Amino acid sequence: MTEPERYTCEDVFRRLDDFLDRELGPTEMELVQRHLDSCEQCAREHRFEARVIDSIRGKLAHLRAPDLLVKRVSRLLEDEKHRR
Ligand SMILES: [Zn+2]
Repeated sequence: MTEPERYTCEDVFRRLDDFLDRELGPTEMELVQRHLDSCEQCAREHRFEARVIDSIRGKLAHLRAPDLLVKRVSRLLEDEKHRR
């Protein structure tokens, strides 16, 4: 009997960002998902990060800052940096 490949909490933690961005290969997605199904600690971390990302995406979509405004703000920040 062969032991199926399993991720440790550390393996999952390292891949969590890519997992959330769906940038992992199908096998890795599957292994992370399987670990999340059986590990409450990682599942909680995953839910937390997913919520943070969702709220950031929601805000960005809602704000839709025009390029001009983004440029103006970043120039202000640059000026501020030089002043110090
Ligand atoms: Zn875990």
